[in-house]
Formats: sequence, C-alpha cells, structure tokens
Amino acid sequence: MARRSNGITIKSERELKLMFEAGQIVAHAKSRMMDAVQPGVETRELDAIAESAIRELGGIPSFKGYNPGMTMPYAFPATICASINDEIVHGIPSRRRLDEGDVLSVDVGAIYGGMHGDSAFSVGVGEISEEAKNLIEATRESLDRGIAKARVGGRVGDISNAVQTYAEGLGYEVVRKYVGHGIGFEMHEEPHVPNFGKSGQGPLLRGGMALAIEPMLNVGTRETRVLADGWTVSTADGSLSAHFEDTVAITLNGPVVTTRLSVDGGGCDSKGV
Ligand code: MG
Ligand code: MG
Repeated sequence: MARRSNGITIKSERELKLMFEAGQIVAHAKSRMMDAVQPGVETRELDAIAESAIRELGGIPSFKGYNPGMTMPYAFPATICASINDEIVHGIPSRRRLDEGDVLSVDVGAIYGGMHGDSAFSVGVGEISEEAKNLIEATRESLDRGIAKARVGGRVGDISNAVQTYAEGLGYEVVRKYVGHGIGFEMHEEPHVPNFGKSGQGPLLRGGMALAIEPMLNVGTRETRVLADGWTVSTADGSLSAHFEDTVAITLNGPVVTTRLSVDGGGCDSKGV
C-alpha cells in the first residue's frame, strides 16, 4: 500500500523517478503530434502517432479502454483525446480533418513502470485568429501560474486561486465542472485540483505528492454540455476553449514538471521528496 497523507498518496523517490519517465514518454508523444498538426490531418492520424511514440518508448497508453467506475456509456476508444474549437475535453479521434484556423486541444496519458503521466496542450492549426492566439497563450500561462504554487507547505487552493485570478483577470471563464487531480499509481487520484478557489484552503501539499494541473479556459460561458457521443465535452454557448495540463511532482526543491521534455532528469532523481 502506498503511503498517504489525508488520503493523498505520497510517492517515494523511486516512484517519482518512474513518474518522470512516464512523463517524458508523454512529452515525446506530444512533441511528435505537434510536428504533425496541419490543415488536412485527421485527428485519428495524431492518435496513431501518439500510440506509436508511447509504445516505442516502452509505455502503455492510459486512456485507451478507460471507463471511470463504468460510468460512461462505453470505454474511451483511443490513446488521445482530440477536441476542436468549442470542444473542451474528451473528444474522440476520428476521420475529422483539421481546418486552417482551428484550435486543437490534445490530451494524452501514459503508464511506465506502473506510474502515470497525463498532459494536454492546445495549438492553432495554420493561421488562427487573434482571439484564439490570446486564449491559447492565456491558458498556457495560467497553468504555469498554478504550477508555481505547487510547493511543499502550500495548499491546493493556492494553485486553484492562481489559475482563476490570472484567467478571470483577462476576461476568460474557467471551466468548473472538470478539474485537475492527484496522479501517480492511478491516472485519477485524490485530491481534486479545481481551477478556481481560495488561497490557503484545501489539502496541504507535501513532498512526494503529484498533481495533474489542467486549466480549461473559455472565451464565453464556463457552462458545458456533453455531445451525443457520450464523451465529448463542449462549451454550452459554442465559444472557443483551450486546455493545458502537466503532471507535477511536489518536492522539497519545488515543483518538478514531468511531462515537458527534459535532458537532466528533471530533479526527480536528485531532489528530496
Ligand atoms: Mg489529461
Ligand atoms: Mg488529467
């Protein structure tokens, strides 16, 4: 049994190293997909690229076959989620082709050595509008603001508040129904990591915890709806949405982002938990 603090798993240094490896596999898969994004590409082609990248590096795609508590109508059928424009998360890869001007959000996860990495990015397809560029950049920055608060001795609410304050300050709405999460031995662990909340509230952050922080920002309403396929979540008003996510280990020397490409081990191999 994993060690826990208030129900949140505490990973050993060895387990964090494995999480880092899982995260690097996810980072490679993201990089290969980003290189392939252009008008005319089908989202299922990106899915194939991600699955190949993950398996070549010894990982296992974690989304394929996923059905949380058997609550969904069917298990998720692919390695990535591909969500376009007003779609926020959980889009299913298909024959749909990317169009010039689209905002594509990709979510991808992998398991390595029994440990998980989970990450997402939004990217413009070809030339995109100023509105889309600004939204993507704001979402990316809101994630970084959240990550900066993933520190020993802080609280989950510090992360939530940093994301919300930045995003709402720019006039965006933050999706509330879908939130970030603890991660490690499972893709989804305790605690919830909302993208809204109050500083100084929520669970205490301790070394060896790991969180998937994942702001979803909308140009319009924060309200959502689920499409007829049972999985895809879109904005209720059809406005644009963007999503960034990284898996972050909390260490005594600060947050270690596992799901961005790194050449130096990222700190999980040398810094205390
Ligand atoms: Mg994800
Ligand atoms: Mg996630």
